[in-house]
Amino acid sequence: MAQQKPRILNSILEAIGNTPLVRLNKIPQSLGLECEVLVKCEWFNAGGSVKDRIGLRMIEDAEKKGILKPGSTIIEPTSGNTGIGLALTGAVKGYKVIITLPEKMSKEKCDVLKAFGADIIRTPTEAAWDSPESHIGVAKRLNSEIPNSVILDQYGNPSNPLAHYETTGEEIYQATEGKVDYFFASAGTGGTITGTAKKLKEKIPNIKVVGIDPNGSILAKPESLNSKGIFAYKVEGIGYDFIPDVLDYQYIDEWMKSDDKESFVMSRRLIREEGLLCGGSAGSTVYCALKYAKEHNLKKGDRIVILLADSVRNYMTKFLDERWMENNDFYETEGRKNIEANYG
Ligand code: PMP
Repeated sequence: MAQQKPRILNSILEAIGNTPLVRLNKIPQSLGLECEVLVKCEWFNAGGSVKDRIGLRMIEDAEKKGILKPGSTIIEPTSGNTGIGLALTGAVKGYKVIITLPEKMSKEKCDVLKAFGADIIRTPTEAAWDSPESHIGVAKRLNSEIPNSVILDQYGNPSNPLAHYETTGEEIYQATEGKVDYFFASAGTGGTITGTAKKLKEKIPNIKVVGIDPNGSILAKPESLNSKGIFAYKVEGIGYDFIPDVLDYQYIDEWMKSDDKESFVMSRRLIREEGLLCGGSAGSTVYCALKYAKEHNLKKGDRIVILLADSVRNYMTKFLDERWMENNDFYETEGRKNIEANYG
């Protein structure tokens, strides 16, 4: 094969997109699955998550429309990764960035945001999305108080799904030469699954798209899937207590619900057995995708693509830490033994 010439990037923003698609070689096989399972590793983006794509895209689209100008302040309510994506592009382009972030989100995300020079305001995790104390409510108040400030609004901004339509979906289509039977992604704003699925469905009409939503959230359809109600859970970045405008249900054929324990146990297996340094929502998505493959009896020759949204970097003091797993009762017996051996 011809070797690619080394390339000089004009800035780190050119290292957003074109993430690797990697075959799983052990975990599906350990479950007796014969279908091919590929994962799209979004932590290879410059800021460490799938949301770098929309951080860049929303800023550049707003610049083109004249909404963002030199000296503007960007304010965004986010579970962290969109904030990191905006703060990364903001650092390179010289915008001030203020992020409102629920308390639940990890210290690691906050530290990265601070390193990019962003200001952070923590909000109560339990605040309803439409209350003045929520991360969305506080962002709106700041926007009314700070001159030349803009909320790019990942929940309603068409540039969010468009980034995935034009890049994530296109990359999957090209890398697989159109041979994909199933696509799985977890949903927060729903921008990733909406944009990627729209592109894949246009190019591969028979593809089946499955969305993953945690128990405690109400994004899944039919609504009976959400019968456990709205409550707090530990996996970050997915699920909401409202339906974001950018989530377009017409591109999603089916939904599955995930739980914390199975998610974190799977993320740890992805690291340990496949060498994939992914985050917690990756575990939710892979767990559900493999369950789906088993239940639907997927065969040799069937090909699944699963999107893994972020990196373990965001969770070093959370699910990567065996004591955190133990304290949250997420460990199997085997894990407990491990802890005794390592921590006495
Ligand atoms: N996983 C993680 C870790 C995330 O931060 C996000 C973004 N909130 C998602 C999945 C879902 O992405 P989207 O908002 O595009 O649905």
